[in-house]
Amino acid sequence: MNRIHALDRIVVDQIAAGEVVERPSSVVKELVENALDAGATHIQLRMEDGGIRLLEVRDNGSGIEAEDLPLALTSHATSKLRDAADLDAIASLGFRGEALASIASVSRMSIMSRPHGAKHGASLECAFGRVGQVHDAAADYGTRIVIENLFAELPARRKFLKTAATEGAHCLAWLQRLALVHLGVGFEVSQDGRTTFQVHADDDLEARCAAVFGERIAADMVEVAREDPQLGVKARIGAPETARRDARRVHLFLNGRWIRDARLLRAVREGVKEFVPIGHYPTLFLHLQIPPERIDINVHPQKTEVRFRDERAVFAVIVTTLRKGLASAPWATRAVGPVGGQVQERSGFAPSWARPLQDTAGANSFDSSGGFPVPGSNDQLPLTANEVTPEGEYLNFLSVANTFLFRPVTGGVEIIDQHALHERVNLEELRKEVRAGAVMQQALLMPALVEVSAEELAELLEHRETFLTLGVDLEAFGDTTIAIRGVPARLTRLVPESLLRDLLEIARQNRAATPDQLQEEMLFSMACRGAVMAGDRLDRPALEALLRRGADLPQDRTCAHGRPVRVFLSQEDLERAFYRR
Ligand code: ADP
Ligand code: MG
Repeated sequence: MNRIHALDRIVVDQIAAGEVVERPSSVVKELVENALDAGATHIQLRMEDGGIRLLEVRDNGSGIEAEDLPLALTSHATSKLRDAADLDAIASLGFRGEALASIASVSRMSIMSRPHGAKHGASLECAFGRVGQVHDAAADYGTRIVIENLFAELPARRKFLKTAATEGAHCLAWLQRLALVHLGVGFEVSQDGRTTFQVHADDDLEARCAAVFGERIAADMVEVAREDPQLGVKARIGAPETARRDARRVHLFLNGRWIRDARLLRAVREGVKEFVPIGHYPTLFLHLQIPPERIDINVHPQKTEVRFRDERAVFAVIVTTLRKGLASAPWATRAVGPVGGQVQERSGFAPSWARPLQDTAGANSFDSSGGFPVPGSNDQLPLTANEVTPEGEYLNFLSVANTFLFRPVTGGVEIIDQHALHERVNLEELRKEVRAGAVMQQALLMPALVEVSAEELAELLEHRETFLTLGVDLEAFGDTTIAIRGVPARLTRLVPESLLRDLLEIARQNRAATPDQLQEEMLFSMACRGAVMAGDRLDRPALEALLRRGADLPQDRTCAHGRPVRVFLSQEDLERAFYRR
């Protein structure tokens, strides 16, 4: 057995580096955050071989004094924190004083810096923890740090690196996260001599989203903000069709810091569930602004996890902000006219996602003529009430497989899913009645009797009031039987037995929910249960009636569960299918 001895400083730093420096992208994150903390307005990242061979970050920030350079590479040395009390209100991105020391212990680092006003700059080199001497150097104002051969002397770490392409992509992704949220700062990335990303200091959030997500996705994002010094939020949410199964396009930030947390992601899913299919995540930028003393970011060395003093309030705000944004989204306006409406010839038709977002402000407010939402100054799609097919007028569509309704529309063909449409129609109509406190109820001539256990009976009666607000009238009928006396008039297809089972199930799963949340869950379920199914045979008048009800929806792109109500195939799509393009 060996005797106990204190570890060499370099080894200590290398072990600590394991927590901070996982791969080149961790270096990008730390160096760029330092540049931001230094007040830089322009930050350049240069990489070779995905940052494995070389990674350089250059900024025009405050710079480091020559005599402080060795300290910058010393662990637990920082200019951002003095004592433990400061930990309660951290305003900078860094504060642990670990990053540079860690990175310098696992790479060849060279750091050149010149504070503003200094006659000249200074440089310092460090090779895998062996720190050199400070030298005078010709340097621009600001700081320039070059990292070469990451993990070269640590084969055990090096072998976990992926290909240069993958590592480079991670590096770029980290820089883009920071570029999204740090307005007022320009960013530029070059990879193996090619410029791969660029935003200017005066580019706004929309321009940054365009640079990160692509023009097309960004053009269709809606913005919502909540001004509150205690809990501010600014968000931009992508259209439903850009949702994906992984959360890679979800960007959550807290006070300029990118964060990731399973609970926050759950709140996001909750907020978008009506628009995005189950199991999918939206394209999202969401920035929380909370006074530093109300949060704790000192949970993990990489600082991507957080604790909130008032977690419930934060989650609730995320959910309501997303819902509010989505409810006002221009996607609720039709891509090609209302579902049940007549489609008129329009030249220069553009699908909603091709329209610029700034033209759609307030798009969901109905115009004074009682027409449909008009996308602002964009005169291509002024849908007014006149365009809705009046009662009795012929609707041109074809039902396929008792599921899909095909209809020719300007610029292509639209396919509507009858179940999804009916579900959305039910939800919107019933919700409107519920909110107005006036659900049309249909009393059943013969109450429907359902056998339940005594326990279930008690549970159901406990929620009797909530059920009533939804138009469902229940009453005990003996010890183990419940009588359904009335159901919402709109949902004539509901089967009493399964309605009851659903309500019971929802009540059980949402014990902690507020009455409002419970009501909302039940609305969803009833809207779905009360809808025709795929494969249900409907006669033409019934289908026409469904389409007409669909013409009036505030939201007709997705069903209550986020699946699409309709799919548009453009002429271009058709031409491609037939190899005409
Ligand atoms: P932290 O950011 O937690 O303070 P770092 O190890 O990342 O720790 O950096 C150590 C110190 O070096 C910082 O506190 C800061 O004073 C200085 N520093 C690092 N990078 C820069 C930079 N780009 N510009 C100015 N100062 C910097
Ligand atoms: Mg730092």
